[in-house]
Amino acid sequence: MVVGVTDALSALKSAGELVKTLMDLRDVSVVQSKAIELQREIFTAQQGALASQESQAALLKRVGDLEKELMRFENWETEKQRYELETLPPGIHVYRLKQGMENGEPPHKICANCYNKGVKSLLHVTGQGSGLTGWRCYACGFKEDSGQYVRPQVNRSRGDWGASQRGGDMWTSIACEALRKGKCLEPRYDGFARVVEVHAVGATQEGNDIMRIWQVRGGSNSGERAGWKLMRLDETFSAHVIDEESKAPRAGYKRGDKAMEFISCQI
Ligand SMILES: [Zn+2]
Repeated sequence: MVVGVTDALSALKSAGELVKTLMDLRDVSVVQSKAIELQREIFTAQQGALASQESQAALLKRVGDLEKELMRFENWETEKQRYELETLPPGIHVYRLKQGMENGEPPHKICANCYNKGVKSLLHVTGQGSGLTGWRCYACGFKEDSGQYVRPQVNRSRGDWGASQRGGDMWTSIACEALRKGKCLEPRYDGFARVVEVHAVGATQEGNDIMRIWQVRGGSNSGERAGWKLMRLDETFSAHVIDEESKAPRAGYKRGDKAMEFISCQI
């Protein structure tokens, strides 16, 4: 097929018109700056077409790409209308699906960072407990906890280990799962993630769920050292097993941890 300069120019003209339409319809600054950028591209392409017939094919492809980009933009402009900004305590911005705009989808939230870049990315709930909900966007790495931390009530007599429904019990079984699988555990306290190797999980004389761990990294401040720690499990906000080999048992570990009155599992 022989494509003339006239065709190239008319394609460019239609791309230019698309940009104008976009600018007339929307007044969002992001869209406008994008449209201005596209207009500049098209202008350059037009100049090129006039100057050289040889680059026609390349120019046409560029126009095609620009049109696709505009289409994607227009689709997003429609899609974004389905969401509204929501502020979760203590001040975390997310976009939630509007009522009546579900189109058969379950309620969900999307990332505000990605939204502002014209990308729809679901927010995943990574943990829930002690009044907090953990949110994560895998597209941009956004990671926040919403809600207010509530210190769990420790109120358990020595006779009912295992019978209680407190969060600590759930984390006890997850910590033991990490130990069994030989994987690292990622517990979160007060919004800070750590990576630890579980050596023993149990409870103190007072009935508090604890674990003996070797901390690999993480913590409340960058200066926090790796090494042996005794951690409360009933104060954990969330914990999950991660795909990282545990090097347990580390040197210096002794079975039958003296800090524990009752041991659920040990290496
Ligand atoms: Zn994101």
